[in-house]
Amino acid sequence: MRKLAILGSTGSIGTQALDVIARHSDRFAVSALVAHSSSEKLFEQVRAFHPQIAALTVEPAEIPEDIRSACQWMFGEDVLLRVVRACEADDVLVSVVGIAGLAAVMETLACGKRVLLANKEPLVAGGELVTEAARKAGHPLLPVDSEHSAIFQCLQGAQGNTPERLILTASGGPFRTWKKEDILCATKEQALRHPNWSMGRKITIDSASMMNKALEVIEARWLFDMPAEKIDVLIHPQSVIHSMVEFADGAVMAQLGTPDMRLPILYAMSWPERLSTGGKRLDFSAMNALTFEQPDLSRFPGLGLAYEALACGGTMSAVLNGANEIAVDAFLHDRIRFGQIAQLVEETMHAVPVVQHPTLDQVFESDLAARAKAQALLKTARFAL
Ligand code: NDP
Ligand code: MG
Repeated sequence: MRKLAILGSTGSIGTQALDVIARHSDRFAVSALVAHSSSEKLFEQVRAFHPQIAALTVEPAEIPEDIRSACQWMFGEDVLLRVVRACEADDVLVSVVGIAGLAAVMETLACGKRVLLANKEPLVAGGELVTEAARKAGHPLLPVDSEHSAIFQCLQGAQGNTPERLILTASGGPFRTWKKEDILCATKEQALRHPNWSMGRKITIDSASMMNKALEVIEARWLFDMPAEKIDVLIHPQSVIHSMVEFADGAVMAQLGTPDMRLPILYAMSWPERLSTGGKRLDFSAMNALTFEQPDLSRFPGLGLAYEALACGGTMSAVLNGANEIAVDAFLHDRIRFGQIAQLVEETMHAVPVVQHPTLDQVFESDLAARAKAQALLKTARFAL
């Protein structure tokens, strides 16, 4: 029986993790559940999964009588860290959004617990520090992001052979076939309608701008210790191949499946064993075609920024991430047009100084500097609607 803490239990990844735990209750127990403010949803989860600790960053007006003494309750801005330290979990699934998960990932590793990583922004901002901390802790970082899980799965049979190339597949998002001028002024409703995956709002906007793939290139650079020039992105609209690795002899290994996040979530939980997700299986005879295209950097400039950030190194990826979090929030609050997301990120990257081999504090300082610069740029005439 492995005990699991879920940071971000009320979100898209968190609820799917609970779905697979319910299916395998003889194998996994819930040690802690943490969310931001979705108290009603968390109360339901406490009733169903009986954690040792339940926590919210925003304290609710009242805890229902029936579950008031069912577990230990924690509230406040710093609950992620307090829960990581106090819970008896073997594994911590980090599925909060944004850089909020970085300190929690570092604390989990420092406590000797394993990290199951859905939250990609910590690796983007602090990849060097996170991978070094995992190495020292002696635990692999178990990827939950579907592309990175696919690569991790492909590497299970590699017998120590290092891949020559990683090929990250991308659905292309809702604007794959759109003209550049139409993408520039796409609406929130259009951007939030992803063709293949149902996810939280931030990652859905990132998928539409392809900034999600930019973050994933940086994530792959750190998870698999691969230089940027050996990480390719390939558009594959059907989302059947979740990513591929190419070896010295030209052999390409791929992981295929229906687009269902429960597979990579459960694989991270049960690795190296495979358990049933209860999800749909691939039906090859019903498939018309698997198609591939090169990404178009002129229509999706955000993707190119990942390679620019990696070439620059140091805190540049933290700056990219911080600026993107501000840009997505501004777009979701109708403050900028869709096409201005990548523009705001790029201008911020060119304005914030970079520190090579940063400490954790310097990563957080760069993140704050990027946010402040992006907010200041938003007030300029160039970013007026
Ligand atoms: P959601 O927005 O659906 O869920 C986020 C969860 O985190 C919610 O439970 C939210 O609580 C909680 N949360 C947010 N901020 C905090 C905080 N500061 N402290 C405590 N809890 C917090 O996001 P997703 O599940 O879609 O994504 C989670 C992460 O996984 C992201 O980094 C994303 O990029 C990555 N990912 C997601 C995929 C997906 O299919 N959804 C696929 C691959 C990666 P509340 O409900 O109270 O707001
Ligand atoms: Mg992904």
